[in-house]
Amino acid sequence: MERIQVAEDVSLSRIVHGMWRLSDWGYSKQEVVDFIEKCLELGVTSFDHADIYGNYTVEEQFGQALELKPSLREQIELVTKCGIKLISSNRPEHKIKYYDTSKEHIIQSVEQSLKNFRTDYIDILLIHRPDPMMDPSEVAEAFTQLKREGKVKRFGVSNFARSQIKLLNSYLDEPLVTNQIEISATHLEHFEKGTIEQCQVDRISPMAWSPLGGGSIFTSTDDKVKRVRNVLEKVKEETGAESIDQVLYGWLLTHPSNIIPIVGSGKIERVQSAVSSLEIPLSRQQWFEILEASKGKEVD
Ligand code: NAP
Repeated sequence: MERIQVAEDVSLSRIVHGMWRLSDWGYSKQEVVDFIEKCLELGVTSFDHADIYGNYTVEEQFGQALELKPSLREQIELVTKCGIKLISSNRPEHKIKYYDTSKEHIIQSVEQSLKNFRTDYIDILLIHRPDPMMDPSEVAEAFTQLKREGKVKRFGVSNFARSQIKLLNSYLDEPLVTNQIEISATHLEHFEKGTIEQCQVDRISPMAWSPLGGGSIFTSTDDKVKRVRNVLEKVKEETGAESIDQVLYGWLLTHPSNIIPIVGSGKIERVQSAVSSLEIPLSRQQWFEILEASKGKEVD
């Protein structure tokens, strides 16, 4: 599979797998190993995580699989995040949900992630959400230290607006390598707010979370989603795609900003389907037909 070189020393597979829902799948350690190996066979080598996934348990569940088969570590890229503090029985000291991008928290969170993953480095660390209390000089200090210690190779952000990316970049020695944002045919916010354009300005690839609307595209009775679903069915027939999810991935992959979809399914056949979507480029007219269905009107 084609890869995306996000920095000199880090590349990601064109399709990334997201582990947000791992703790819901009821997989044993061996089944997590099997799932990772099957992803690798498909060319999906990059795995997206966050400290908070599964109520602070997913990184460790994944790490236990890496412990069972340590040779997997050098075959994969680990992306993880920090900066959100959840109310959780696993973090009784959190009285409310809040953000923390202090140097101390970023470093402490990475140390914990390294322990959870049973590894000594993370490929890309993302700040999970923009923090109104962010001191960019502190974030920069944390990044510099983590890089110098070899604990994190590269840094990015998630859910950042254009101005927030520019602010943080202006303090960093090395530019951010990605902005992970919600992008799908039913979620156009970042086309409209210029977030994707800012990625193009910065020559970085956005990562797209919930590329299938978190699964709602298959089930929602909302008028907009129904409209989009109908057009997806039509484009599926026209392109010879096997399922509408392939058309949705194709819609993201066809965009010139090199969007990297993060597949959230725990079923390997659905990861395979996402990979097959690389063979299904959409025409410009099909792309706009899906856009039109989502907007509910033709372009001006
Ligand atoms: P998604 O692909 O939009 O949704 C995945 C959900 O759709 C799963 O529950 C899956 O169920 C279901 N699904 C997939 N194909 C289906 C089909 N053909 N029919 C019915 N249901 C289907 O992605 P997501 O999980 O919401 O997000 C992907 C990743 O993005 C996450 O794992 C996480 O890594 C990342 N993320 C990041 C942020 C952020 O703030 N940075 C926020 C949210 C997510 P099955 O498992 O049963 O297939």
